[in-house]
Amino acid sequence: MKPAPFDYLAPRSVDEAVAALQHAGGDAKVLAGGQSLVPLMNLRLARPAVVVDINQVAGLDAIGVEDGHLSLGALVRHADLAADPRVASGWALLHDAANLIGHPAIRNRGTVGGSIAHADPAAELPGVLTLLGGSIMATGPRGSREIVADDLFVTYLTTALEPDELLTEVRVPSLPAGTGSAFVEFARRHGDFALVGAAAAVSLRDGQVADARLALIGVGATPVRVDLGSLTGQPAGAEAWTAGGRLAAEAADPDSDLHAPAEYRRHLAAVMAERALHQAAQRAGGSRS
Ligand SMILES: Cc1cc2nc3c(=O)[nH]c(=O)nc-3n(C[C@H](O)[C@H](O)[C@H](O)COP(=O)(O)OP(=O)(O)OC[C@H]3O[C@@H](n4cnc5c(N)ncnc54)[C@H](O)[C@@H]3O)c2cc1C
Repeated sequence: MKPAPFDYLAPRSVDEAVAALQHAGGDAKVLAGGQSLVPLMNLRLARPAVVVDINQVAGLDAIGVEDGHLSLGALVRHADLAADPRVASGWALLHDAANLIGHPAIRNRGTVGGSIAHADPAAELPGVLTLLGGSIMATGPRGSREIVADDLFVTYLTTALEPDELLTEVRVPSLPAGTGSAFVEFARRHGDFALVGAAAAVSLRDGQVADARLALIGVGATPVRVDLGSLTGQPAGAEAWTAGGRLAAEAADPDSDLHAPAEYRRHLAAVMAERALHQAAQRAGGSRS
């Protein structure tokens, strides 16, 4: 299979990339890791007139810690995210999520910016960004702006990014000290996109739930945040995690597709949520957040 004809540009700076996107008047696609865009083009589900390859843009592959948040350049590869010791110790949920993305070959090429901009509702990183309340920086002809996760994911494969905007950076806040986290998912085969996944963060006080957060993937058009306010003050134990699972099933809004019927995804939402909350609570108070 071959893509439809297109012009190929390889800018060397963010300004050049933005100018190329603007010049194409909405008929361009950014090429990052190519793990989603290239198959779509080969199947002719995407037919951009211009492909703007950002792999030679300097400075977009840095990982840094600034004012307590993690700063990830758009071109940070999933494998680099998974291998970074600062991420493993301070952003364990992100570390766990990165290791769940596809296969090693996908993780070696696929990028953080590409995963967020592609906005697949079954992708792990948008789920983590939603749970942690992260944001992205977007640069376009009108300047740069920050878009928070809650405003970013609009629907299936659609974000609030304008066609002439480049996602340059992903900002991920850390969890409060002593908070445990876990990412649990179910896929039909190892390395497949998850049918359903759950990201959880739990902190405890005197054996009770002090705070619990949950986000689901694969159960709606965007990552789904679940309100677990009713768990606060409950004894930290099986009953609370089962209640969290029930709330997850209620919040889930899945469609049936060729992979699974909606009811099965809703059932999985409860099971994955319960497991993630249990695991996060076990890790709470330890050195691993
Ligand atoms: C077999 C297989 C299994 C996979 N399994 C998983 C999985 O389990 N979990 C998961 O999350 N993902 C999975 N993926 C997808 C993978 O994570 C991709 O890396 C990711 O979806 C897109 O990242 P990319 O860098 O390859 O982006 P690309 O394919 O280059 O681009 C994807 C889209 O994002 C846009 N884009 C990319 N970068 C930017 C930017 N900086 N600014 C603006 N727009 C941008 C592109 O224009 C395009 O529309 C899988 C892919 C394959 C092929």
